[in-house]
Amino acid sequence: MRIDDIRQRLRALGAGPSHEQRVLRLWSQALSQDAGKRRPEDFLPRSLRDGLPGLVAELDGLARVQSAHPAADGSARLLVALADGLGVESVLLPRDGLCVSTQVGCAVGCVFCMTGRDGLLRQVGSAEIVAQVVLARRQRAVKKVVFMGMGEPAHNLDNVMEAIELLGTLGGVAHKNLVFSTVGDRRVFERLPAGPVKPALALSLHSTDAEARARLLPRAPRIDPAELVALGEAYARATGYPIQYQWTLLDGINDTPAEMDGLVRLLAGKYALLNMIPYNRVDGLPFARPAPERAEALARGLHRRGVLTKLRQSAGQDVDAGCGQLRSRPDARTLSASNVDRAITPPLRTHLEGHQPA
Ligand code: SF4
Repeated sequence: MRIDDIRQRLRALGAGPSHEQRVLRLWSQALSQDAGKRRPEDFLPRSLRDGLPGLVAELDGLARVQSAHPAADGSARLLVALADGLGVESVLLPRDGLCVSTQVGCAVGCVFCMTGRDGLLRQVGSAEIVAQVVLARRQRAVKKVVFMGMGEPAHNLDNVMEAIELLGTLGGVAHKNLVFSTVGDRRVFERLPAGPVKPALALSLHSTDAEARARLLPRAPRIDPAELVALGEAYARATGYPIQYQWTLLDGINDTPAEMDGLVRLLAGKYALLNMIPYNRVDGLPFARPAPERAEALARGLHRRGVLTKLRQSAGQDVDAGCGQLRSRPDARTLSASNVDRAITPPLRTHLEGHQPA
């Protein structure tokens, strides 16, 4: 379902523009439709009041928490069932963040990612994207939404932009706290600057060598890394938010001196932040992460050479919630729905940086 479908349903029930805004604001902020000083009977037309419970039940059915998997760092992976029985995963992140999925599966097929292994099953509708935020907000505050879960947002651009627009207006999320994450697609650089809500942008780079990058991200659009950085730089300057470049650090593959030189060549002096994320283990894949001391030395070296670099650990790795580990899965370690509340209320917050997928 798309947000536009909800708007049309509301109009069919007799909603005017202000009624429509009110219903969508309360829904996207996970508040009851009775919330606020003004009682619905003083404000909403009768036909809308009569039809609203049915619509709310339908919205509740868009996404349901099937199981929750709390991690030691205060994050939690949520397995979310969609109305047609397919599943996506969202990750509650430290510091009021949420990582949402935009597709069931993914067509880009990055060789180090679990999500891409089965290809694309279907798009996630804009209302289903917002519904993931609503589910999370029923558990705790959500002040930042990163579009870094399952899927490539650029391949579902209309739905993602519609969700961003609602979350950045009625949903009350600051625009710089909405983070669109992509492998790079020319359509993104046309659409994002034109929208009423301009999100921050994360670009998955992973290699500075065009051929090596094409091997790692086999079905990503062929944009030379230097051109990708130039496009990113223009967006960063236009919005005032630095670009976050994502670099899944793979032992022996993109931790070489040539790649480090390439990063300095592309990113030194740019309005950018490089997130180096040591690879998260995925069963059956032949990749490894460099030793921690080596990863730290690489990040320090880049920093010294003028590239603002952060070495990050994905949140929730112990429950497979880290970058590249999400998928639609049946899982034996599920919690019953009644335990979900208790289980995902983070008992501790760490200073771990957010989930930073590829
Ligand atoms: S890393 Fe992102 S773009 Fe690549 S296959 Fe996984 S979900 Fe898709």
